[in-house]
Formats: sequence, structure tokens, C-alpha cells
Amino acid sequence: MAPVTFRDVRKAFGQVEVLHGVSVDIEEGQFVVLVGPSGCGKSTLLRMLAGLEHISSGEILIGDRVVNDLPPKDRDIAMVFQNYALYPHITVAENMGFSLMLKGASKSEIAAKVAPAAEILGLTHLLERYPRQLSGGQRQRVAMGRAIVRDPQVFLFDEPLSNLDAKLRVSMRTEIKNLHQRLKTTTVYVTHDQIEAMTMADKIVVMHDGIVEQVGEPLELYDRPANLFVAGFIGSPAMNMAPGRLDDADRGVFVTRGGQRIAVAAPGAAEPGRDLVCGIRPEAIHLGGDVALTVEVVEPTGSETHVVAKMDDVEVTCVFRERITARPGETLKISIDPQAVHLFDAEGGKRLSA
Ligand code: ADP
Ligand code: MG
Repeated sequence: MAPVTFRDVRKAFGQVEVLHGVSVDIEEGQFVVLVGPSGCGKSTLLRMLAGLEHISSGEILIGDRVVNDLPPKDRDIAMVFQNYALYPHITVAENMGFSLMLKGASKSEIAAKVAPAAEILGLTHLLERYPRQLSGGQRQRVAMGRAIVRDPQVFLFDEPLSNLDAKLRVSMRTEIKNLHQRLKTTTVYVTHDQIEAMTMADKIVVMHDGIVEQVGEPLELYDRPANLFVAGFIGSPAMNMAPGRLDDADRGVFVTRGGQRIAVAAPGAAEPGRDLVCGIRPEAIHLGGDVALTVEVVEPTGSETHVVAKMDDVEVTCVFRERITARPGETLKISIDPQAVHLFDAEGGKRLSA
């Protein structure tokens, strides 16, 4: 296990800079998720850590060692990709032990490392099978087994679950997290899926267009997004956004463009006279109150009811614990938890509320 440090890391492909100075500290044993939309530079950053991509400027450290010029094989890391690329003509056991065999380990040494890794992953009964005889989830587990067997300082994962169906993805998520809790190896995990990030990470790094938008624990990001990008990216259904301003006479009231009044417990640095965006999580909306919505669509999920409605011209999604029978076109009176109202600067998107 080792900490990992990115210090003002930049990457250019030819003339095009795709990472614009990324700094992140990853503690020893931490499970850190890099999350962001496709093309934001997650894989590039991970590949630079792995040594598969040259670093244009800045420094990457594993432990207290700068690894910029260290070849991949000397970095003591193991990487699991989306395309797990097992060797088809050798068994599960041989796939798992392959890197040790390359290093010249003896058969008994290899077996002694493969057996416990197989045990942890529930692969013991499959060790003599060939990859084609395994399901997608089992193959992904073999790919992880191959990484575990190397006992690296750091595990790297690049969208390892993207090729699996939805149900398997959820169970593999739990399995990988469980694995980390047992092995406690420093892990850097890349995904575009914010739910994966929220459920698995000790710490999330939200990336966008080659920069880090915010770093924090999952619920920190959820409760106090630093800007409109993070606010809109983290959370499902997404945070509702209503443009407007604070009331001139009362900083504790946000007034939407359509004139709806929303109480704000902690306006922080937000000032009247400034164009703002009010962010409201779907579950911060409660039945009964002074704010009027016009119902558009009602979606019962069983455990909750999602209502898509209009607050004047702004579309608002509500998540209610209650079962609701409202019809399209009906008015729904709601209230919004004043503690859960987020205010952002309309220009630049920075968080202003406390
Ligand atoms: P992500 O993994 O977040 O989807 P990537 O790190 O793969 O994003 O890509 C970040 C940006 O760098 C994208 O604009 C992509 O087109 C560009 N890019 C990635 N690899 C190369 C390459 N080998 N040559 C040129 N551009 C690249
Ligand atoms: Mg990628």
C-alpha cells in the first residue's frame, strides 16, 4: 500500500492540452473514484499513473517516489480494464498466475498466491476452466484476481463494470468494495457513473474538461456541491435548478423569475441584486406548502413516487415517499426544506450559500 500524489499534472496530445493542472492527494489505503463525463480526461490521468502515457508536466508520486520517468513494470501497480482481456487458451489459474510466471516464480509459489486470491473472489471451483466457459461477471472476477495476485502498492480500475449488465454491475460494485475492505490496498477507480462513485468511494474526484471541479467524501459533494457542475452531476434524479434573485428586503427568501418565494436558511455570501441559481434536491421537496407546481408526469417506482412538474417555466422533479395520485395539469402545493436550498452564482456557477 502507498499514497498517490498528483501535483499540477498536465497532459497535451500534440498541441491540444486535455488535462490542465490536476492536483489530488490519495491517502494510503484509500478508495478514490475519478468521475466525470466521457472525454474529461479520467483515463488519461489513470494511464499516466500507470506509466502508459507520458506526463507533459507536473509530478506523479507513488509513496514518496516521483514516478514520472519510471517504466510501468517498476511502479508496483496493477490495472483492471473494461475489456479484461484474459488469455483464451490458458485456464483461470494460469491467467491469474501469469504475471508471476513471467517473473520466474516457481509453480508452488504461484499456486500459493493464486489459491487465496481465488478464495476471496469465489473462483476456487473454476480454477481449471477456460475463459470461454465463464460468465461475464466471472471473467471480470478473474481479471481482478490477476491484479490481486500481484499484491501491488496500488490498484487501478478503468470502468471495469461498463460491459456488464445492470444487475451484475450492482453486485460487482459491492464485491469490489468488499474486496477493498479486506485488502485495504490503495485504489484509484475511474467511472463516468456518479452512482458507482457515490456508493464505492472513500473520496470522489469530480472532473470536467480536464480540470478537477471538486474533491470530497460522497456525502460532502452531495450536501455541499462547490459549483453548478458538481451540483448537476452528482445525484439522481438530478438537482433542480431555478434562476432568480434574493428578495431585496429579506436575504432569507429566494424569489424565482416567476415570483415563487422559497425560504433559504443559510444564504451565505449570496447578495440581493445578483443573478442566482437556486438548487433543490428532488427529495428536499415535501407535500403541502405555499409553492405551486403544475404536475406533468407521475412515475410510481413502488418505494417512492417521482413527480415531474413545472414551477412556472422551470421543470422540477420531486421524489416523494408517499404514493401520489395527482393527474397531469393539476396543481400540487409543496414546501422546500430551507436547510436544503443551495444557491449558486448564475455567472460562473460558484456556490454562494453556506
Ligand atoms: P475519459 O476517460 O474521461 O473519457 P480520456 O482521458 O479518454 O477521457 O480523454 C480525454 C481527452 O483526451 C479526450 O478529448 C480524448 O479525445 C483525448 N485523447 C485521449 N487519448 C488521446 C490520444 N492518444 N491522442 C489524442 N487525443 C487523445
Ligand atoms: Mg475513459
